[in-house]
Amino acid sequence: ARVVDAGSDADERTVEAALRPRRLAEFPGQPRVRDQLSLVLEAARRRDAVPDHILLSGPPGLGKTTLAMIVAAELERPIRVTSGPAIQHAGDLAAILSSLAEGEVLFLDEIHRMARAAEEMLYLAMEDFRVDVIVGKGPGATAIPLELPPFTVVGATTRSGLLPAPLRDRFGFTGHLDYYNAVDLAAILTRSARLLAVEATDDGLAEIAGRSRGTPRIANRLLRRVRDYAQVHGQGVVDRAAAQAALELFDVDGLGLDRLDRGVLEALCKRFGGGPVGLSTLAVAVGEEADTVETVAEPYLVREGFLVRTPRGRAASALAWEHLGLTPPSGTSA
Ligand code: ADP
Repeated sequence: ARVVDAGSDADERTVEAALRPRRLAEFPGQPRVRDQLSLVLEAARRRDAVPDHILLSGPPGLGKTTLAMIVAAELERPIRVTSGPAIQHAGDLAAILSSLAEGEVLFLDEIHRMARAAEEMLYLAMEDFRVDVIVGKGPGATAIPLELPPFTVVGATTRSGLLPAPLRDRFGFTGHLDYYNAVDLAAILTRSARLLAVEATDDGLAEIAGRSRGTPRIANRLLRRVRDYAQVHGQGVVDRAAAQAALELFDVDGLGLDRLDRGVLEALCKRFGGGPVGLSTLAVAVGEEADTVETVAEPYLVREGFLVRTPRGRAASALAWEHLGLTPPSGTSA
C-alpha cells in the first residue's frame, strides 16, 4: 500500500492487530462514541440481554474494526468477522447466521457493499432472529424458517448514506467516528511506540500526530516509516528531525496532506480552474476510483476547508489555492 492511503494490506493487518486497544477504557479519542457505546453495553449487561445492533460510520482507519472487537471483548463474547464484499449471495449470509452462537458479535465491515438479496435476509435476522433457509430448487423449493439465538450485529461503513433505510433502521445505535485531534493522536502514537519498542521524543510524536490526517491508521503507519528512517539515518530515535525528513521523503506535506489529497487539489485548480467539477471527472484526472476520492481524500479535504461540495460538483476553496502556492483566477466564486 502507499504510505498514505487509508486501506491496509495483509502485512499491515498483523501490525495493526498488535496495536489495537482491547478495551473501551484503553481507547483514546472519540469521547462521544465511547460514552454512548459504554452506556449501551452496560445497560445490556445489567439486563443480561444482547445489546441492540450497532452501526459505526466514518472514514477508513478511524477505529471501526477496533471498536467492534472491543464490543465483543466488553461483552465477553466471541466475534465473527466478515465483510459486505465477501457476501455475494444470500446463501453466504445464511451459512454465517445459522452458525452463530448465542450472544455472538457478528462484525460486518463495509456493510454497504453487501449483495441486495443478502440485505433482506439480514433485516429479518436482525429483527426477529430468524432466517429462511431455502431447500430445493425451482417450483419445489420451500423456505424453512430457522430460529437463531440472539446475537449482535456490529456494522461498519464509510458511507452510511448508501445504506438502504430499512437496514439502517435495524440498528438501535449508530456511532459516527470523526477525525482525531492531534492530542489524541499523540496519545495513540505514544502507546504504539511503546508496543513497538520504538524510542521516541514527544516532539517527534507530535510532529507525526500533526501530519496524520486525523487518522490513527495513518499515524501508526507514519510512525513505522519514521522509525525506519531513524534507524537508517540516525540513532534510531524518532525525534522531530527524523519525523520531518521521513515525512518529506514519503510526500506528506506540512499540513499532513498526502499525494492523493494534493493530486485532487492540483487537478481541481490547475485543470479545472478551481471547479466546480463532477466527482467522476475529477477522479479520472487523478487516476483513482471515484469511490476512493470520495471516501478517502474528500472528507478530510472538506473538513479542513480545502474543498467545497456544491450542487454542481467539487470546488477548490481559497485555502486550497493558497496551500498549493497558486493564485486563483479573478472572478471565481469559491
Ligand atoms: P477502521 O475499521 O475504521 O478502518 P481500524 O479499527 O482497523 O479502522 O483501525 C486502524 C488502525 O488504527 C488499527 O491498527 C488500530 O489499532 C488503530 N486505531 C484506530 N483507532 C484507534 C484508537 N482510538 N486508539 C488506538 N489505535 C487506534
